[in-house]
Amino acid sequence: MALRKEPSLVRPLVRTLHPYVPGEQPKIKGLIKLNTNENPYPPSPKVIAAIQSAVDGRLRLYPNPTAQPLRQKLARLHRCKPDNIIIGNGSDELLAMAVRCFVEPEHSTKSRSRELLQFFNPSYSLYPVLARIHGARTNSVPLEKDFSIPFLGKLRVQRQWDFQAALTFITTPNAPSGHGYELSELDALCRAQKGVVVLDEAYVDFARAHALPLALKHSNVLVARTFSKAYSLCFQRVGYFIGHPELIGALDKIRDSYNVNGLGQIAALATLDDLEYYRNNFRVIIATRQRLSAELSGLGFRVLPSETNFILTQPPKFSAEVWLQKLRDRKILVRWFSYPEVRDYLRITIGTPNQVDALVKAVKKILAA
Ligand code: PMP
Repeated sequence: MALRKEPSLVRPLVRTLHPYVPGEQPKIKGLIKLNTNENPYPPSPKVIAAIQSAVDGRLRLYPNPTAQPLRQKLARLHRCKPDNIIIGNGSDELLAMAVRCFVEPEHSTKSRSRELLQFFNPSYSLYPVLARIHGARTNSVPLEKDFSIPFLGKLRVQRQWDFQAALTFITTPNAPSGHGYELSELDALCRAQKGVVVLDEAYVDFARAHALPLALKHSNVLVARTFSKAYSLCFQRVGYFIGHPELIGALDKIRDSYNVNGLGQIAALATLDDLEYYRNNFRVIIATRQRLSAELSGLGFRVLPSETNFILTQPPKFSAEVWLQKLRDRKILVRWFSYPEVRDYLRITIGTPNQVDALVKAVKKILAA
């Protein structure tokens, strides 16, 4: 069919969009995939059994529209009320809903701050994409060189930081650096911020501390969690926000009626029945992370301290981009980002001990070649 040129049927804003680019999912046989922070361990056998036993004629029915049983169970786990919780089709869906719910599109109000989505740079690269889709303004404020948060006084003088911003996303622990933050500094930031703050805790199960108390203490704070990484459920797409019922209720108004698929709800419920299985995986992943960090440091890599299931590392001898290719030639896929703040680094997801052994072996061969 001939391409229709003018007038375009697509909104000008959408015509100029560059979509978010997720990490590759290649189907190469024998590939060691350490590029998208997936968990190297499968879901608990109880979760797989629960999904399998739900696959029958009931698939013709709609799932629970508000994921009520899952919200109840999460509320018991986190010692809050189901009204404090909203479930999403992955936490990505909720991040997008937060932008639609709390941020005005540019030029729609007299207040510039009401149109502002704010985040640190570097952090999760989806945030600016969500702002562009919505037509919101963005404020990207640099983290310190070691990826720590500039202290509040400094943020104040920097003036780029807007304490009135409608919405602020903070990735904690940070991605892609793996840097963890103290509860006290997050608390100070949340208290200084007049708009909504989302503390994106996608990787928090691999960290020393979490910031859930802030979401239950401050009426402008939401904590984002996901079953994807720590709970090996990327495929099922289940994430959640915790926060004040007023914010949760507002998000609920713009939620698609059946946003969380039924098998996802069942899988997440069964996950919560077997938390010990996952806690054991966290311990193994953290130990493997420490071992990989030490081994790479011994080979001349600069490895940043990590509180996540990945590390960010500056490799020796070749550029990070060249390392990406050299490892790929040896069937090991890691992640490299081309933007200036991290282009000298590789981000490596923590795999199984065997995958990490294979990575270290490949690195030694590349260095010796
Ligand atoms: N936040 C951060 C910081 C992430 O890295 C990711 C995964 N790419 C997500 C949120 C979204 O995870 P999901 O949609 O799978 O819950």
